[in-house]
Amino acid sequence: MKPSHGPGSLQKNRRSTLFTLLAATSNQHKLVEIANTLADIPLQLKCLNEYSNYPQVNEDGSTFEENARKKARAYFEYSGLPTFADDSGLVVPALNGEPGVHSARYAGEKANYADNNRLLLEKIKSIPVDKREGQFICTICYIDEKYQECITGVSAGIILDRLQGTKGFGYDPLFYVPELGKTYAELLMEEKNLISHRGRAMILFREFLKNKILDR
Ligand code: IMP
Repeated sequence: MKPSHGPGSLQKNRRSTLFTLLAATSNQHKLVEIANTLADIPLQLKCLNEYSNYPQVNEDGSTFEENARKKARAYFEYSGLPTFADDSGLVVPALNGEPGVHSARYAGEKANYADNNRLLLEKIKSIPVDKREGQFICTICYIDEKYQECITGVSAGIILDRLQGTKGFGYDPLFYVPELGKTYAELLMEEKNLISHRGRAMILFREFLKNKILDR
């Protein structure tokens, strides 16, 4: 069922005390990271779980930006609210960019984080130790009636050949940050947010929101 927000919702937004922003994700891990980064901005953050029958968007783009833009556009049109969506994943150049845009379903359509990590572990073992660099990439796209903006954050690390750490999600236990001597799965959320691909993109996005959207 389509929610009640109409095309005029941005106007309504401006008149109300709090700017309402839809984070087009239902991933709880991401939502916690997002809420944490935007905590100092006076806005009301909504997420997809607040809509009972929100449509699914096929993430079939060949780049993170294409997917993020597609999701942001679809959920902006669905909700009528200023919306942002992200697409993110792990890129390992020595594996021809895998898992890349297929990060969520690397080991198959129904794969979970453990399945994906198992596949990456299997593949990384055939790569020489000094070629195991990887980058996490996150592109955030924001869309409202006037603006469309895409922002990308990147973080670099080394893919381990064993799981290390229990925090976080996804490929975190395999992504080692040499400067910290830890994997993402050994960092507190606040520590991860300061250096992660999504954290970096979110910090730039927070500045964009403050300067271009909330100030107008
Ligand atoms: P999406 O942006 O929800 O499509 O995420 C794609 C996939 O990339 C996730 O399912 C994870 O496997 C992986 N991923 C994205 N961000 C992170 C992260 O911060 N840590 C670990 N894995 C991540």
